[in-house]
Amino acid sequence: MKAEDFRQDFPIFKGNDYIYFDNAATSQRPQAVIDAVADFYQKSNANPLRGLYDWSVDATERYEHARSTVAKFIGAKESCEIVFTRNTTESMNLIAYSYGLKNVGKDDEIVISVMEHHSNILPWQMVCRQTGAKLVWLEPDEEGVITEDEYKSKITDKAKIVSIGHVSNVLGVTNPVKEIAAYAHDKGAVVVVDGAQSVPHMKVDVNEIGADFLAFSGHKLMAPMGIGVLYGKKELLEAMDPFLTGGEMIEYVTRDSATWAELPHKFEAGTVNAADAVGLEAAINYIESVGFDFIKEQEHKLTRLLMDGMSELSYIKVYGSKDPNKHCGIVTFTMDGVHPHDISSVLNEDHVCVRAGHHCAQPLMQFLKVGSTARASLYFYNTEEEVKRFLEVLKGVRKVMG
Ligand code: PLP
Repeated sequence: MKAEDFRQDFPIFKGNDYIYFDNAATSQRPQAVIDAVADFYQKSNANPLRGLYDWSVDATERYEHARSTVAKFIGAKESCEIVFTRNTTESMNLIAYSYGLKNVGKDDEIVISVMEHHSNILPWQMVCRQTGAKLVWLEPDEEGVITEDEYKSKITDKAKIVSIGHVSNVLGVTNPVKEIAAYAHDKGAVVVVDGAQSVPHMKVDVNEIGADFLAFSGHKLMAPMGIGVLYGKKELLEAMDPFLTGGEMIEYVTRDSATWAELPHKFEAGTVNAADAVGLEAAINYIESVGFDFIKEQEHKLTRLLMDGMSELSYIKVYGSKDPNKHCGIVTFTMDGVHPHDISSVLNEDHVCVRAGHHCAQPLMQFLKVGSTARASLYFYNTEEEVKRFLEVLKGVRKVMG
């Protein structure tokens, strides 16, 4: 199969000439995902986990089936280790409020890196503010790599939580999470992995990388917006208090007390997003039918073409590794004399979609000493033709604005 064949599965690409290079922000959805959501509403729509009649039982079964598909997809030992959330941001907040506030104290440290997305920074700033703990920052070298020296010098016995992005949404670099996790565990810390940018692009197995918690968003891997995942080791989740309280997450309620439901329901207060969980399951089935080998091969090929083309343009600066295979399809760049917002706006006139701004990673922008950048992010359904046209249009931006 070729990228052109897979594109046929995506209704949004039909009948227009848009080049969608903003896949790190959100991916597109194949018909199979759209159909799965519609099918849920057409055939099983009822409030799951509540009713004793057929439709509700069916909705519950479909929702729980989706959970077990997610568990298998990331190598979780049990389905109850999968909590459905809205997105990575909510998953991170859940860990910070329910695990962080309870387990971190005044003299402790939480270790993150300067290349984190804000959703893996702000929850830890909150924990530090409330507990008096210190936030410790790992910094990458000029190629964007967090070296062994760096993490070994900053993760000490004081570290209670080490929370690292698996793949940077700006540099595209894959961080050595497995090595960092092994070292952090030796020091007694719990390891949180932000998988928002890795899970859509590579096989992620929680045991293989040594994650105690893993967070990711469905919408970046072709599932609907509004469904996300928090994986947590059972013994950790069991010891945690709920994040949100209300319906469905209880065992028994009296006038002045409540006990909690079993995992994972303890963490899923209120009516759940069953239709989109079913959509996430369809997206996982779809991604597995494409295969991570193809995804990697196509991303490497396109990123090389893109970076080779950009290297011929003296007014373009690309951030991160010089090796296209180390970008996970993400190419962040600036153009001399042209503001990134202008790059994006002018590209839009030619129906080219790229992101411009700080990418919710302002500490990284400060570290790189740049206010904002433009970012082209590719996925397996993008084509060589698109990259070639993108490069031509990019030259045009310089002519118009430079
Ligand atoms: N972490 C990383 C690395 C991201 O790239 C993103 C989104 O761009 C997020 C977290 C937050 O994802 P969401 O907005 O789906 O919560």
